[in-house]
Amino acid sequence: MPQLIVNEIFHSIQGESTWAGVPMVFVRLTGCPLRCTWCDTTYSFHEGRARSFDEVLAEVAAYGCRTVEVTGGEPLAQQACYSFLAALADAGYTVLLETAGSHDLSPVDPRVHAIMDLKCPGSGEERHNRWSNLEHLKPERDELKFVIADRADYEWAKAKVAEHELGKRVKAILFSPVFGKLEYETLSRWMLDDRLPPPVRFQVQMHKHIWHPSTRGV
Ligand code: SF4
Repeated sequence: MPQLIVNEIFHSIQGESTWAGVPMVFVRLTGCPLRCTWCDTTYSFHEGRARSFDEVLAEVAAYGCRTVEVTGGEPLAQQACYSFLAALADAGYTVLLETAGSHDLSPVDPRVHAIMDLKCPGSGEERHNRWSNLEHLKPERDELKFVIADRADYEWAKAKVAEHELGKRVKAILFSPVFGKLEYETLSRWMLDDRLPPPVRFQVQMHKHIWHPSTRGV
């Protein structure tokens, strides 16, 4: 029976992406090969236990909520995640995937809404960007996210948007300041001054404003 190493399962308000504000169930998988300097889920690197698909699907179903996000850690670092995403879609859920973009997106079930990071230099993990994944994004439903620590990251993100014509590849490009490091107003000002066009958009991590920023399971 297929298994996943699961860190936590919880019901909360989506804090990021164009889905921000939507109640959903989160399945956080254990493990990540990256070590972003500003990572806010380091507890997911090692904590977790093996659980069967049936067990996880039963716990998800118990919340009575039809939208599910699979996140991490880096969920695609577990090979079984690909078939788990398909199992969720088969069960009729609206399925979101939050991924660092370091693993192959091509086997991801086409019913899944992928929110993929492009790692800026300030993360310390730029070398893990798997640029071939850009070819597998679905313009009608997928989203790209840049977590921006400083002006250098902002300039890098802006250049990548232009260089790879990212606006044609996804429905939204999220510019998200590193919480507690880059002021919201500063990033907003840069975006306004540069007249960045849609689908680029500013985002905050909404859940860090609903609950205390260090709260887990939200
Ligand atoms: S990819 Fe995500 S989970 Fe992994 S280190 Fe970076 S922020 Fe943390």
